[in-house]
Formats: sequence, structure tokens, C-alpha cells
Amino acid sequence: MEFNNRDQAVWTAIHHEETRQRQNIELIASENVVSNAVRAAQGSVLTNKYAEGYPGHRFYGGCEYIDQIEQLAIDRARELFGAEYANVQPHSGSQANEAVYRALLKPGDNVLGMDLTAGGHLTHGSPVNFSGETYNFHSYGVDPETEQLDYEEILRIAKEVQPKLIVAGASAYSRLIDFPRLREIADQVGALLMVDMAHIAGLVAAGVHPSPVPYSDVVTTTTHKTLRGPRGGMILAKAKYGKAINSAVFPGTQGGPLEHVIAAKAIALGEALQPEFKTYARQIVLNAQAMAAVFNADPTFRVVSGGTDNHLMLLDVTGTGLYGRDVQELLDSLQITLNKNTIPFEQNGPFKTSGIRIGTPAITTRGMKEADVTQIAHFIIAAIQNREDDVELKRLHQKINDFAESFPINWG
Ligand code: PLP
Repeated sequence: MEFNNRDQAVWTAIHHEETRQRQNIELIASENVVSNAVRAAQGSVLTNKYAEGYPGHRFYGGCEYIDQIEQLAIDRARELFGAEYANVQPHSGSQANEAVYRALLKPGDNVLGMDLTAGGHLTHGSPVNFSGETYNFHSYGVDPETEQLDYEEILRIAKEVQPKLIVAGASAYSRLIDFPRLREIADQVGALLMVDMAHIAGLVAAGVHPSPVPYSDVVTTTTHKTLRGPRGGMILAKAKYGKAINSAVFPGTQGGPLEHVIAAKAIALGEALQPEFKTYARQIVLNAQAMAAVFNADPTFRVVSGGTDNHLMLLDVTGTGLYGRDVQELLDSLQITLNKNTIPFEQNGPFKTSGIRIGTPAITTRGMKEADVTQIAHFIIAAIQNREDDVELKRLHQKINDFAESFPINWG
């Protein structure tokens, strides 16, 4: 990174953040490391341009190149996911969801989404979010025994609630989601189906997770998680919803699109269309399963639902005598970054939490394979076991630092 000493305060902090990313082992399931090309597009002259509207229909002059770029992003999104329609303008995943609700619902309409503590997202109806404030959200969770989605139970609740829209997808769910079954449920109660595939989009793109696109009315996503693009959102849909969604994004909920980010989305989508991306996505899942196997073999930990089919796992850490918060802080001090997380039927609240969430997208980008991530799982276990032993922790910290250094980030 070029070090610009005209604004020391900001550039010093950026420089430190880059060093942190190099030195730490990144296990936050929603994060990744983008290519230099994605970053270059975001830092390009496109940030100077206003382009309200859509390709060919802008409210500003000088949009001929912007139009080419946005059209490339749209075309690649449609090709990658086999979608009839794509809107690449949402500034974030939350804004993609907001626009879809605006396009399909009226304030006060009944909606059914996954409960936040069971793994859903804030925008799926949390009372502290615009979604829960504006629409009459009801929720489904997971089965207490299997900790997996119980489709019979979702059907039962849907029959009771009679939602206009069913929202599927999650931020902390480690199992495959059965989209054909959700379609059947939606049809049985006359609801529309929206799938928020933010977490699994890269796996879906690579065919490693079944695609929600053929079964959903609308699919929303972020572009920065397993898809490995810039921070942002995107909407895919059946063609018949295109006009309403376009209006709901602009002028409904946004003004000028971030065309520098849209260019970066186009580049990331182009990268995801390459054959190597399939290999990458497969490795993400193999790595998550290898880590889950280590925790499953240790009686102190409990892998929620018993394992993982995707890029993440939830670990119940109550057997260690620590809260998720404490584990997050302990590992932070040893250069391993992850987040505390509620687990289904959480007993300790969202601040302390009973669990942690571990994801493999970023370490897989860094080139790690099963043997390497197994080593990381052993580091985590050793840190918790030796948490009172400063000498041992210091030794472990050095080992973790050396291990991270042996996987230099290839920013290209
Ligand atoms: N949907 C899901 C399932 C998510 O996990 C997230 C982010 O974590 C979002 C939406 C929101 O994305 P953003 O943070 O870009 O608003």
C-alpha cells in the first residue's frame, strides 16, 4: 500500500490495519480478502461520477463509460447465478433487503423470517431494525434437537401467520438450506419467497451450495463475503419484479449509485466466473469441515448441529467455562480474529454469548488447506486450555505469529 504522508492520522491507521490483516488469522465468517483489481476499481476515478438512474436512462450527462461498467456487472451477475434480472446498485446487503421489502410489501404486511438468535439477520425482522419496525414480522427458528431448520414447523407457522413474504437465508447457519422445500411452503400459503444468500453467495456461484435462484421470487446478497468482492449488495429476481425493484432501489431508497463499487463488483463477478473460483469455494467447505472435525473430537466443545455443510460453524463454548465474548478477547490477544455469537436457544444473551462463529473464506483465500486449518483449531483449543498460563500463552502467541507469517497474503 502506498503510504501517503499528507494525512498522517488516517494513513497511519490504514497502514496499521493492513499490518493487522497480514499478521492475524482471520476467521470472521463474513469477511474475505479481495484481489488488487477489486481494490483498484474501488479507488478509481469512478468515485467522482454521479449516475442516478440505470444504464441508458441516467439523470446526468457523461455516463457512457459508467453505463458500460454497470451493464457488465449486471450481465455477469445474471450469468453467474442464472438469474433473469439483476440490480447491482444496493450499497449494502441491508439496503438490498430494504429495497426488496419496499418493492414487494406495504408497511404492516405479515412477513415470516428466521429469528436472529437462531441464525437470521437483523434485516429479517429484528425489532431494533427498520424491518421489524415497518413490517409485521413473525419468526421461525431451528429444531431444539437437531439445531437445523425444521421445514414442517416452518409450514405450520406459515399457515398460522399467512405471510405475504417468506424470508430465508442466515448469518449463522452451517447447514444446507432446502430451497425447493421452502418454495413448496411458500406456494402452500400463497406467499412470495425471498432468499438472502449473503453468506453463501460464493458457494452458490461455484455450485458448492444448491442455488436458491430457480426457486425464489427474489434473491438478495452481499458481494463481500464468500463471493469475495467489494462491500456492497445485489438483487437477483424473476424478470417480472425488475421494474418494481429498480424503482425501490432508485429513487425509492438510494440516490446516486456507487459506480466505483459497481466496477469492483463487475471485477469480482468476473473472477467468480473463472474455473479457479470453483476450486476455491470447494476448499472453503473442506476447510470448515476439517476444523469442525477437530472441535467435534474434543468433548469441551460442541459444534452446533453437529457439523457444517458450508463455510462456517457455530461452536458452543460453555463447556470451557468461558463465554463467547471471553474466547473472542483471548484469541484477539493471540492474533486470531473471530466473533462471539449467540447459539440457538441462547441462555447468556447477545453480549456475553454461549458461542463463537468460525468461518474459513479468508484463510482459504490465503492458501490454507485442511492440514493448516486443523492446526488453527488446535491453536484455539490450546489457547483456551492454557488461558491462565502466561508463559504457555506467550509461547503459543509466537507459534501463531510464525504460522500466520508462513501464509503471506497474496493481494493479487
Ligand atoms: N444478510 C445477511 C444474511 C447477512 O449476514 C448480512 C451481513 O452480515 C447482511 C444481510 C447485511 O449486509 P450489510 O452488512 O452489507 O448491510
